[in-house]
Amino acid sequence: MRAMSIRRFMEQFPDEQACRDYLFQVRWPRGFICTKCGENQYTLILTRHLYECSNCRTQISITANTVMHRTKLPLSYWLLTFYWVASGEQCSARKIAKTLQVQYRTALRLLDQVRYAMFRAEYDALFSFWLPNDKHATPYVVKKGKHKMVNKAGLFIKRHYRHVSPTSKHKYFYEYRFRSINQYDPAAAIDKLINSGSSTIYSLNEYHRKTISKKATV
Ligand SMILES: [Zn+2]
Repeated sequence: MRAMSIRRFMEQFPDEQACRDYLFQVRWPRGFICTKCGENQYTLILTRHLYECSNCRTQISITANTVMHRTKLPLSYWLLTFYWVASGEQCSARKIAKTLQVQYRTALRLLDQVRYAMFRAEYDALFSFWLPNDKHATPYVVKKGKHKMVNKAGLFIKRHYRHVSPTSKHKYFYEYRFRSINQYDPAAAIDKLINSGSSTIYSLNEYHRKTISKKATV
C-alpha cells in the first residue's frame, strides 16, 4: 500500500490544533486517562493546552510521558518526521534541519526520539537481544537469526550513517528493524509510528533509559 501524499498529509494537519486533536484520538481512543491516577474526567485549560485531571489535579499535556515529552517543537514537526520516516524515505538530521528550519542539534535529537518510537512500535522481548546488556538466554535459532540481522543492520548503518558510536548503535538497529518490517506498507507504518510516538511510556527502563527526563528532550 502506498502512503498518502505529503500534500494530503499536510492538509490533514493545517494547524497545531488539528495535530493536537489527532494525537488526542490516538493517545486516548476511549477518552482521556490521567497518567497518574487513571481518572477519566478532566478540565481543559485552553490557554496552555493542558488537561487537568478532575481527581488528582495533575495537569497533563498531550505529549507528556510520550517520546515527545515536554517538547518545544510544533507538533506538526513531529508528525511530519513520523511521516517521512514511515514512508521509507531516508531522513537525515541535515535534511530535517534544512526543511523544518531548525538547528542541526535539534534535528538530531528529534530523530533520536523518533527512533525511540520505532523501537516501541516493534517491541518484542524475543528480539531484545539488540539491547547491549541483554540477559535473556538466546536459543540457537534466535542466535542464528540475530547474526543475520545484525549483519544486515550493520550494512544499513554503514550505507546511511557511515559511522555511529557504539553506545547508540542499538538505536540504529531499531530503526533498521522498523524500516525492514514496514517497508511494504507505508500507510500502516505511519499509523504505527504515530501510535507509538503518542502512547504513554510507563516503564522507565525501556530503551535503556533510567528516567524520563524532567527537561525537554527536543
Ligand atoms: Zn489524576
